Amino acid sequence: MTIRNKLTLRFFLLVLGIIGVASIVIYIFSERHRKEDFYIRLRNKAEATAKLLISVDEMNVDLLHKIEKDNPMTLPAEGIVVWNYKNHVLFDTDKKGIIKQNSSLLNQIRLEGEVRMENGDYEILGFLFTDKYDRFVVLAAAKDIYGKNRIKDLKWVMVTVFGFSLGFIILAGWFYAGRALLPISIIIDKVKQIKISSLNLRLEEGNKVDELSKLSQTFNNMLARLEEGVKIQKDFIANASHEMRTPLTAMTGQLEVALMKQRTAEKYKEVLESVLEDIKNLNKTSNRLLLLAQANTENLDLEMEEIRIDDLVWQSREELIKLQPNYEIIVDLDMNPAYENHLQIIGNSQLIKTAIINLIENGCKYSLNHKAVLTLKTERSGLTIMISDSGIGIPDKDLDHIFQPFYRASNSTSARGHGIGLSLVQKIVQIHKGTIRVKSKLGEGTIFTIVFPVL
Ligand code: ADP
Repeated sequence: MTIRNKLTLRFFLLVLGIIGVASIVIYIFSERHRKEDFYIRLRNKAEATAKLLISVDEMNVDLLHKIEKDNPMTLPAEGIVVWNYKNHVLFDTDKKGIIKQNSSLLNQIRLEGEVRMENGDYEILGFLFTDKYDRFVVLAAAKDIYGKNRIKDLKWVMVTVFGFSLGFIILAGWFYAGRALLPISIIIDKVKQIKISSLNLRLEEGNKVDELSKLSQTFNNMLARLEEGVKIQKDFIANASHEMRTPLTAMTGQLEVALMKQRTAEKYKEVLESVLEDIKNLNKTSNRLLLLAQANTENLDLEMEEIRIDDLVWQSREELIKLQPNYEIIVDLDMNPAYENHLQIIGNSQLIKTAIINLIENGCKYSLNHKAVLTLKTERSGLTIMISDSGIGIPDKDLDHIFQPFYRASNSTSARGHGIGLSLVQKIVQIHKGTIRVKSKLGEGTIFTIVFPVL
């Protein structure tokens, strides 16, 4: 069932219930009011007759019959019977025998003062009438033709109004449900138009207050995030393919030039060695790119274990010196024995090693003396890893951008690189809930500081 149908049905049932209950309550109260009113009239009339009979000395039964016959106050089909205390009938105009004359009823009236009852269309009232000398019981019966007709009319008016209301409620409910859902239909139509190539489209946010406006705002925020994500991916793919194409073009060029004419074995060896180095570099770049792409996926499934950072630092130093024997790497331990256990963190050893190697390698790569100092510091708040060098430094204008993928500072042309390392390091540190900062002075050196807080 569509929401529109559901809303219409609920609205219909609700209004139906309200009108139904209201009609029944009105009917019950009107009927009660009519009855009360009629009994009062009946009592007034019967009392007036009894008073004439009992209190007026000159009055006799025949005269009263005559008076009653032409009395304009007489109620429809009225009958009145008056008994004295001996249960003798003093007066009787009940020709049709509507009033049941039995002593137990008379006793009940004497006991209770007033008794009301019904007999078919007749309403009957019995009451005790007293004067100075005697106690009389009066029973009066009559038909409330006028009142009952009014109630019957009321019933028909209510049934007719109720019937017409049903049709009207369905139409109104259908119309209002449609009106209420119109903004949703508009949102659906607009969202249908949004493709991966048109993520710049946005929904109308309306008054910015109601729920539908909030829904549109939420959609728009999501679209903005998607647009940003897709842009980052596009840039990443463009930059990555550029980084791969450049060395491949260089290698192709070298090989084509070498093959242009016959060369000496020495020359071929030289070319092959150069190409091999390019391939190794390419391999390193593609591995880093793969790692960076993986690290950017939000639900990265990593093997996390308990690792000691000082062990990883020594291993990284060893691996790097094996590859670059001309690098000088100093490891300085600034330990507070009370917090030695902060050297231990939960993480992925391969990733942490990659981050440490990248930073030390940069320190050596961008320094004339190819020297970097790594300081490990345990404190109350956690573990700090500082990698410093006395190299070329980073210009202030580039400092804010060096963690962006493929960004290289303007003074970095002296060393080979692709601008991938630092963005990877930052991602790795973030995955391990740490922070990374950089401080640098052009021509004096650079310090990278990683902090792993105690969790
Ligand atoms: P790559 O070194 O391959 O270019 P990175 O992402 O590791 O890429 O570094 C990004 C840029 O940051 C480098 O190109 C360089 O300009 C700058 N940089 C990083 N580390 C240092 C450092 N220790 N000294 C000077 N510049 C650095």
